[in-house]
Amino acid sequence: MKLKEKLSGLIGLSVAGLMMFSCTEAKEANYQIIPMPLDIQMAEKGKFVLAEGTPVIYPEGNDKMQNNANFLAEYVKEKTGITLSPTTGNEGKGIVLKVEENKDKPEGYTLKVTANNVTICGGSEAGVFYGIQTLRKALPVVQGEKVALPAVEINDAPRFNYRGGMLDVARHYCTLDSVKRFIDILAMHNINRFHWHLSEDQGWRIEIKSRPLLTEKGSMRAETIIGRTDKYDGKPHGGFFTQEEAREIVAYAADRYITVIPEIDMPGHMLSALHAYPELGCTGGPYEVWCHWGVSKDVLCAGNDATLKFIEDVLGEIVEIFPSEYIHVGGDECPKTRWESCPKCQARIKALGIKGDEKHTAEQYLQSFIINHAEKFLNSKGRQIIGWDEILEGGLAPNATVMSWRGEEGGIEAARQKHNVIMTPHTYLYFDYYQTYDIKNEPLAIGGRLPLERVYNYDPVPKVLSPEEQKYIVGVQANLWTEYISTFRYAEYMLLPRLAALSEIQWCSADKKNYECFLSRLPRMAQLYDLKQYNYATHAFDITRTLVPDSTEHTLKVAFKTIDNCPIHYTIDGTEPTASSPLYTDTLMIKEACTLSAVGIRPNGKTRIFTEEVKIP
Ligand SMILES: [Zn+2]
Repeated sequence: MKLKEKLSGLIGLSVAGLMMFSCTEAKEANYQIIPMPLDIQMAEKGKFVLAEGTPVIYPEGNDKMQNNANFLAEYVKEKTGITLSPTTGNEGKGIVLKVEENKDKPEGYTLKVTANNVTICGGSEAGVFYGIQTLRKALPVVQGEKVALPAVEINDAPRFNYRGGMLDVARHYCTLDSVKRFIDILAMHNINRFHWHLSEDQGWRIEIKSRPLLTEKGSMRAETIIGRTDKYDGKPHGGFFTQEEAREIVAYAADRYITVIPEIDMPGHMLSALHAYPELGCTGGPYEVWCHWGVSKDVLCAGNDATLKFIEDVLGEIVEIFPSEYIHVGGDECPKTRWESCPKCQARIKALGIKGDEKHTAEQYLQSFIINHAEKFLNSKGRQIIGWDEILEGGLAPNATVMSWRGEEGGIEAARQKHNVIMTPHTYLYFDYYQTYDIKNEPLAIGGRLPLERVYNYDPVPKVLSPEEQKYIVGVQANLWTEYISTFRYAEYMLLPRLAALSEIQWCSADKKNYECFLSRLPRMAQLYDLKQYNYATHAFDITRTLVPDSTEHTLKVAFKTIDNCPIHYTIDGTEPTASSPLYTDTLMIKEACTLSAVGIRPNGKTRIFTEEVKIP
């Protein structure tokens, strides 16, 4: 057995050696990427070899296509070191980018590779961009070597029009550069909406010129609670984005076919605004910008006309900064405690003739009055609202889109009421949750357990809806709340690779999804993460093992695996396995109780060490 192992090891080595020789010609692209394209037809033979100066041909006078060409050149340079030459034209030998307008599938594209050229044809400029992303992700990471694209025809288009990612910059502020890095991460996952959560009890993050105190006073908190203690760090925390910076973000995102959807969360989660303008609260304050987490009882006073004016002032400037069709007005977690005892709020309830009934309290209907007011104002500016699923309580504003976060029930209810829905249930898509069950070595998270596989297997279209109702599920989004995520480096860790799983929920049709297949493609994606120096979680890359006890033979069969089949070394004597420990090649037959340890060795590092006390049946 041992001799055979040794022999097969030698044979393996020599084959690998031969392959290395034969591969010096060109490293090949591989189209098995994330998200998986809808249809890939490999040609029997032929390949296009990328070379220094290969032209990227795009139509003259189209700035978006010029941008696309520059992106492609940048990506190819980054992965292969090869410099392409963007140039105007309509055809020729090289990489041809073109648009054939397709109103049904504007984000779809065809990527065709022959020995003579590569053509990316999009249903719009956005479709071309996604074709470029596919090509980018298919490329090997090499330097100073030739790269060949095997002949292929790929036809691809997304499942959902709305493919979102939310970042909370209010609980923890992050820099303009980090926001751009977030957008880059969204773009490489074919995500087209950036939901930007800009206001909170713990900080106001966007300049509003007519309300300067929002940022002067509301953007800074005195200190921050430390982890899950009752201690505070004593360090002021804050920051905000000027309107000019926010416009820079809008443009940066637009270049990558991402729409920025700003969120001003109202009427709850407003302590930072109340600190700045205490007259907008039911009690008149004083209020502090919160230094801890949770849901505050102090909210905007719904009975005060100044509140309505405040909402209009803020949203009036927001629509000038953000051209998105949708503006998010929050609506979540608004306790009605203050409203119940506030004379102004009660007077408003009386004046409007609001009465509580078996479905909702009068105060819940009063919240609908506020959200309706925001909607009417935004509609008058040609915009639509999105709100969290609490906006269902007290009746939906007429044209509102519902973001279902407390589960799917809100989304199901809204779809039945013929309102558009974006699914973002916390049980599958809250990326502030832990991503492993074994949390002792994890950085502090808000709670929950949301491993990659659970995210991946989520399907956002509930089966209880009729086919007609299902059409109202327009999209799906993951959210990254940042109570416990104080740096963007940590945010990356929480996002990746779960965002890769999200991208397949958003892009791939349900019947094409397969977790094992996804895992097999993940190492290629991780090469890009490595190249970009993103801080991603590596649980999926760890060693998994299967145990098969044989009680008649009194042995235990142990098999190890990693998703990229990297070399695994093991020990059975309790010592730490290293690259010089025995190489795992085949199922181990364990005959005596022992401490089994194993480690996977990769060019870019090691896996976590697997250790298990093994007992014999
Ligand atoms: Zn009030």
